[in-house]
Amino acid sequence: MPGTVQSFFPSMGTVNSITVYDEKLRDTVDRAREFVLGLERSLSVFREDSELSRLNSLKSPEWMPVSSDTFSVIETGVHCGKMTGGAFDITAGPLSMLWKETIRTHRLPDRTEIENARNLVGYRRLLLDRARKRVRFRRSGQSIDPGGIAKGFAADRVSVMLADSGAEEFVLNFGGTVGAFGRERSIGIRDPFHTSGTLGTIKLRDSFAVTSGSYERSVTIEGTRRHHIIDPLTGYPSDSGLSSVTLVGKTAAELDALATAVFILGIERSVTILKENGTEAVFVTEEGEVLITPGLGNIFRFSGNSGGTI
Ligand code: ADP
Ligand code: MG
Repeated sequence: MPGTVQSFFPSMGTVNSITVYDEKLRDTVDRAREFVLGLERSLSVFREDSELSRLNSLKSPEWMPVSSDTFSVIETGVHCGKMTGGAFDITAGPLSMLWKETIRTHRLPDRTEIENARNLVGYRRLLLDRARKRVRFRRSGQSIDPGGIAKGFAADRVSVMLADSGAEEFVLNFGGTVGAFGRERSIGIRDPFHTSGTLGTIKLRDSFAVTSGSYERSVTIEGTRRHHIIDPLTGYPSDSGLSSVTLVGKTAAELDALATAVFILGIERSVTILKENGTEAVFVTEEGEVLITPGLGNIFRFSGNSGGTI
């Protein structure tokens, strides 16, 4: 389309895109991209020199002042921890690092390693000083993992940046966190069983659809598939019978964290949380069944003919 400005860029372990339908907003798009790259520089746990890595590697627990975006990510993460009964835990670092290593090396952690990591996870043992934007762990070895919320946080911020700069119509896609603003668009929901297919489309306008799934990063060891979303209660990759979940709503950071939590909790234990939060969902079970919440009746269209409403 003439006048379309689009930016594709790798960041946060995925490929991101920002599309704006107004030639005059090229600088704004560049600024938005720089914002995301800057956020990654502060939050990446894969960069030794990031703000978060410095916090995570403090030898003994002490207060550390952080930038206001980093503080917001952590604070929102704690809020989502409370909302999900701890299924989403912003301090999941010790466990998620352990299992990321497993996915990389195909070596299962032993019981002691899992127990040790599990004992370090718990957002209640994270202290936040809002007035001075400082953070502190209670115990050494604790660490923050922003992986389940950062893309959503970035998407919220970028959508505000674009709207404030006068963008009337835009689309964001930050690796499974998709937002469509200004005009209704049909967004395909990926079929977790067929990497190139979609299982349905969802109509979005001025809202986000956020997907969490086990198909992105996983490995099969001794007959069991292990993936990157960890149940803090057990210390193991979650096993709730879901293959993916897509949530639809207005706040991408919250949806991102909530999607990770719902994936861990499974359908039954998530229904109340979703209702309380006014969030609609598309669930795909490990058997390939697609279920939607009633509010999506007019918004979601199944590609095939299998599916139902919970
Ligand atoms: P993706 O990043 O694949 O889109 P998610 O948003 O579900 O999917 O985030 C998964 C990431 O969240 C993991 O790679 C890990 O870094 C982190 N994580 C894993 N388990 C938890 C958990 N229980 N609570 C918070 N973060 C988690
Ligand atoms: Mg998430």
